[in-house]
Amino acid sequence: MKKIAIIATGGTIAGRGASGMTTNYKAGRIPVSEILRSIPDVSDRFKISLYSLMSIDSNEMGLNQWVLLKKTIEDIVASSAVDGVVITHGTDTIEETAYFLTLTLHTEKPVVLTGAMRPATAASADGPFNLYQAICLAGSSKAVGQGVLALFSSTIYSGRDIQKISNYKIDAFDKANTALGFMKDDEVYFNTTQNKKHTTGSLFSTMPLDHLPEVDIISYFAGARASLLDTGAKGIVIMGSGMGNYSKAWYEEMKILHQKGVYFVRASRVLDGIVFGDDVFDPDHICINAFTLSAHKSRILLMLSLAYTKNLEKIQEIFTEY
Ligand code: ASP
Repeated sequence: MKKIAIIATGGTIAGRGASGMTTNYKAGRIPVSEILRSIPDVSDRFKISLYSLMSIDSNEMGLNQWVLLKKTIEDIVASSAVDGVVITHGTDTIEETAYFLTLTLHTEKPVVLTGAMRPATAASADGPFNLYQAICLAGSSKAVGQGVLALFSSTIYSGRDIQKISNYKIDAFDKANTALGFMKDDEVYFNTTQNKKHTTGSLFSTMPLDHLPEVDIISYFAGARASLLDTGAKGIVIMGSGMGNYSKAWYEEMKILHQKGVYFVRASRVLDGIVFGDDVFDPDHICINAFTLSAHKSRILLMLSLAYTKNLEKIQEIFTEY
């Protein structure tokens, strides 16, 4: 029997609300053991150990919780003979936790994040089936060495590319067809693999993580004041319009802040696309380009990169590799 560790952190998957209803519930109220009991024969097929690490809405997640999660996973993997790890997590910020773990976890064992869009008390809650498939995926030898994965609605995503694209549908995740594969009940089908650096291949997986610099995300909007950029953070990810764009007034302010040592990443507020280097919007080449990373994921990569190096060219290289 495969041994799976489940680390619960809260979220809607463990949410409790009015019986049958899907809104106005409180996240992280129901123990995962209760959800597991509602999945037929899962404990006959897997040896499961449960770790209740947090019971929070994922909007309470941040760097401290990510580091705790990384340490907990690495301790469990090192000290017990588990075959894989499942993390139950709120869907609002799961993509950020998934990318942080993608970049920092030092293990080849399958680590699968999952959650739910409907609370456990809703009619047709989606959590139990997601959890069932996540356990099967974490127990599959096909998932070994594939980096951090996420499982929703029978679809396998990489921790790098998973993105919430709907705030009310059960099938709430996607990103420009970047799914790695699919599941048919308990059967795992990978179509492709993650070719960006991750887990044991990531330079951040062996780096101390206690002093990461502040990085903020500022969204551009028509008429946005340039003073918005002056947040005091060491790095700013610009969630620009179109291909990571902004006004001339913004660029003037960016150049002043750049002189003072602030690093800028150009990302986009558009869900689908790429941000390349641009001689019109960044003629002085002071920015790092996000390529296919969202602003939220760029923020995590910039925090880690700045703890590793202050060399702009090296950071740009990192943004093409991770
Ligand atoms: N607010 C919830 C959370 O992120 C939403 C969810 O889990 O779907 O914890």
